[in-house]
Amino acid sequence: MRMKAAVAYGVNQPLVVEEVELDPPHAGEVMVKLHATGVCHSDVHSLTGDLPREWPVLLGHEGAGEIVEVGEGVTRFEKGDHVILTFLPSCGKCRWCHTGEPTLCDLGQYLRTGKLLDGTSRLHRASDGQEINHFLFVSTFAEYTVAPEASLVKVASHLPLEKLCLLGCGFTTGFGAATNAAHIKPGETVTIVGCGGLGLSAIQGAALSGAGKIIAVDVHEEKLDLAKKFGATHTIVSRQNPKEVADQVMEITWGVGTDYSFEFVGGQETDDTARVAFKSIRKGGTMFMVGVGAIQKKTMPIDPYVMALWRKRIVGVLFGDSQFQADIPKYVDLYEQKKINLDDMVTKELRLDDINEAIDDILAGNRVARSVIRFS
Ligand SMILES: [Zn+2]
Ligand SMILES: [Zn+2]
Repeated sequence: MRMKAAVAYGVNQPLVVEEVELDPPHAGEVMVKLHATGVCHSDVHSLTGDLPREWPVLLGHEGAGEIVEVGEGVTRFEKGDHVILTFLPSCGKCRWCHTGEPTLCDLGQYLRTGKLLDGTSRLHRASDGQEINHFLFVSTFAEYTVAPEASLVKVASHLPLEKLCLLGCGFTTGFGAATNAAHIKPGETVTIVGCGGLGLSAIQGAALSGAGKIIAVDVHEEKLDLAKKFGATHTIVSRQNPKEVADQVMEITWGVGTDYSFEFVGGQETDDTARVAFKSIRKGGTMFMVGVGAIQKKTMPIDPYVMALWRKRIVGVLFGDSQFQADIPKYVDLYEQKKINLDDMVTKELRLDDINEAIDDILAGNRVARSVIRFS
């Protein structure tokens, strides 16, 4: 079928909104009519070359929509179901899926192939038939997508998909880092480095878990204003060097440091942000590395002397260490009960034709918490 999609053709080139031919679902796949998709920093990391891709590629990985066609052998879904597309798949069969760690699912090894699980693409440029690569199996910058059933979570059909789409990546990653990875307990203290979509979601997770001091750090004051709205108790504008930011955290915590810290920035910035996160934790504290660093960057500025003598720990977190098939429906409930706030996370809504504006806003750093493209 013909549809409109935003295709990426190379590093730092604007996306081209054009007609794309989408093939029907193969066995184990479904076709989803997208209602909305978030625009996430990881899409931009792909565009800037920090996370290299094969071109052309149809980006987007934070979508929600309605199933319009079901491939052979699909039993968990039927036409009309509302679904969240998740940027990681979970097969439900491998060792990791069986031991409660679906973010490590063996299907993850195929995520960078640009193809679906049978090694082929469903995407072709309408004008000349050129094959287009898939992105993380979901490619949501388009009116429709074909994805493996392993990349879908069914959700209640009466809630706004233009808000629930955030559960497919950003919200679950940030909220899960606080609640699944750190297991924050009442009164514990946290430092959140980077207050975009992930950081704001982690602040909500920390607040809902009963954290004491929630210290938000960002270079943009606009984001710190949002951080306060979502539950940050203290904010630090990070204009100084990392040591000065960490000194402020120490002052706020009476010289102790926080129980946990989270790095949510990633990209090329990690020399500074990882330093802040590492210095901010107390003796025996844990730093969670959530932001995805640039692939070319192979080192992190961590002081091994302090790490050993202060018994500090550094832990990697992926998709909030969530059991997303189970957790996302729980987050939908929390949203319905107004215990989590997705509405105010979406600071801008756009149409697909204006998608490059959403990319520019992310590159600017201070304009949006989350932009959402609406198709309906
Ligand atoms: Zn993302
Ligand atoms: Zn698996």
